Amino acid sequence: MSDEAGSSARKESVHHEHWCEHPGCKKWGSFGFAAGAGKAEPRWFCMEHRPEWQPKHA
Ligand SMILES: [Zn+2]
Repeated sequence: MSDEAGSSARKESVHHEHWCEHPGCKKWGSFGFAAGAGKAEPRWFCMEHRPEWQPKHA
């Protein structure tokens, strides 16, 4: 891991990158979860910390 060259300095205005929101986790948030229909942004988690994935119930 060597890509923390100032990437943690600014947490704002960068939304191209979304990392796992799990405390202490530095993994890539591959999974986005919309917290609600009216929420502005989805939450992002890595595969290990993703909330319970809810399969589509048709
Ligand atoms: Zn994680």
